[in-house]
Amino acid sequence: MSDLLEIDRLKVYFDTREGTVKAVDDVSLRVRRGETVCIVGESGCGKSITAMSIMGLVGSNAAAGPFVDGQIRFDGRNLLRLDRNELRTIRGREIAMIFQEPMTSLNPVLPIGEQIMEPLIEHLKLSRKAARARAIELIRKVGISRPEQIAKSYPHELSGGMLQRIMIAIAISCNPKLLIADEPTTALDVTIQAQILDMMRQFKADSNMSILLITHDLGVVAEMADYVVVMYSGKVVEEGEVVELFTNPKHPYTRGLLKSKPVINRRQDELYSIPGQVPNPLELRPSCYFHERCERCMDVCRTREPRLREVGDNGKVACWLYEEAVVHA
Ligand code: SF4
Repeated sequence: MSDLLEIDRLKVYFDTREGTVKAVDDVSLRVRRGETVCIVGESGCGKSITAMSIMGLVGSNAAAGPFVDGQIRFDGRNLLRLDRNELRTIRGREIAMIFQEPMTSLNPVLPIGEQIMEPLIEHLKLSRKAARARAIELIRKVGISRPEQIAKSYPHELSGGMLQRIMIAIAISCNPKLLIADEPTTALDVTIQAQILDMMRQFKADSNMSILLITHDLGVVAEMADYVVVMYSGKVVEEGEVVELFTNPKHPYTRGLLKSKPVINRRQDELYSIPGQVPNPLELRPSCYFHERCERCMDVCRTREPRLREVGDNGKVACWLYEEAVVHA
């Protein structure tokens, strides 16, 4: 599989009155054609900002915006070098995004059908008549009955599950090469969640689309991912093939995440939770950012940052436990 998306040393820093917040700090990752990559981590770890940077939604080096550096190469083009118009032709057409809360992503005063028609007219240059017919076909395709009637409805008239299906209909309307899904099932109950994930898998299989899925839910990761990237405090701390990462996690943070997942058939009086808190992004010093919560913390972890290094066949980890020179010193 060849690379469709390659993020190289992405940095997104926000200047605040209290200091600089390094929301994404030196993050590299890639998504190959037809592959599903999951970025997993707690709230505030930088996963959503990484996704929004791909869509050009966090601004550039403009005076009032955040500092953005690195490269985001998509199908041969560096997205960080494109102007607004060039980005607009890619957004929605080649890269589509679905968000956690469809209600806040859809326009409340525009009928559903019109909102599905918009990218079809803008990107595929369909006539209104052809776009309307295609919109109704898409509503049917995402498993909603009475599509003609639904096309005339407004977002407030539909349930959360139906709205997320509509978001998927909009996202796949132009057959994108990459679908970015940011916590797409978090606000839904488990039955609807399973249906939405099934649908995404089906569309991916039909069109060889790649998926970049942002989630904190390891159950979703296990079901969807080919490859997993674990982020913590704006950095990648571990990555690898999904089976390897679930069966042989290396970073203590990944191990903690997996340990805190409930297991069916095993009686647990209390669920494990990783002790401590995510560090304040304004108080980060050179160190392993996980050291205050880590049961295996060593002296070196408090003063030096571990680099992301290759381990095993196709994985990487940033932890001093895997630096031979430190462990055997
Ligand atoms: Fe724990 Fe040290 Fe590894 Fe950080 S570098 S995860 S503190 S052992």
